[in-house]
Amino acid sequence: MNNCILCPNDCKIDRTKSMGACLSLSTLKIAKYYPHPFEEPPVSGTNGSGTVFFTGCSLKCKFCQNYEVSRNLTGKEISVNELADIFLELEKLGVHNINLVNPTHYYDKIIDALKIYRPKIPIVVNTHGYEKIETLSKLNPFVDVYLPDMKYFSPTVSMRYTGKSDYFEKASSAIEFMINSKPKIYDGELIKQGVIVRHLILPQNLNDTKRILEWFAPFKEKASLSLMSQYTPFGDIKDLPELNRKITKREYQTALEYAFSLGLSDMFYQETKSADTSYIPKWDY
Ligand code: SF4
Repeated sequence: MNNCILCPNDCKIDRTKSMGACLSLSTLKIAKYYPHPFEEPPVSGTNGSGTVFFTGCSLKCKFCQNYEVSRNLTGKEISVNELADIFLELEKLGVHNINLVNPTHYYDKIIDALKIYRPKIPIVVNTHGYEKIETLSKLNPFVDVYLPDMKYFSPTVSMRYTGKSDYFEKASSAIEFMINSKPKIYDGELIKQGVIVRHLILPQNLNDTKRILEWFAPFKEKASLSLMSQYTPFGDIKDLPELNRKITKREYQTALEYAFSLGLSDMFYQETKSADTSYIPKWDY
């Protein structure tokens, strides 16, 4: 925290005094925790996924659906002990797992909390994918399931939407590490260990989607894919006119057909009516 290099931004700043690219100080800050019913079925199950939303973000996509949390820093500061108490509270509610959403910039504090209380249910790391393997390696012994995004293939696209041209390079290495670390284990319908790679299809971006599906195809036996249609215009997109609409049924169908043509069958997909701001949680913590 005195010379933070937790993620590929390598800010090398003292987070006890100032914020880096993730807009986060060294103190933990969360925006919400609750049993989340809308993750993939093996994650949410019947009782929900015990989700903790962390404030700040080391990637900061311009169209972020959780903009209030990633950019406007909605949330409340908590201690490591309080985070451990939240794990226990969620577990007692009967959720199927503890789901850490956007935890990258707090990994060291999360490890400290898990050393205080290690739930008996799986620990899920839910990340944008822009990660460092050195940091993931430290967290990995505490993790059972990874839910990484694979957002962009082209450096031009990732530069346009995040200001980073190395997204695919960093995310593909990180996700390969995750897949090799966590072979798939299911208990009935619920995931106990493994990786579900998520890809959110963006308007007018099918070329990037197809390259990502091609990248994922060699991993199809080892990991699952979630092909998401839920993009809805949000955030700082005034200079990005192509993002000012939802994706069409035709775009989603084209992506699905391409995935099937590559032999991808262990796949989660959504109805296009999932693209609705009513699915964005209320940040009420
Ligand atoms: S975690 Fe935050 S401060 Fe640390 S390197 Fe990443 S963006 Fe910079």
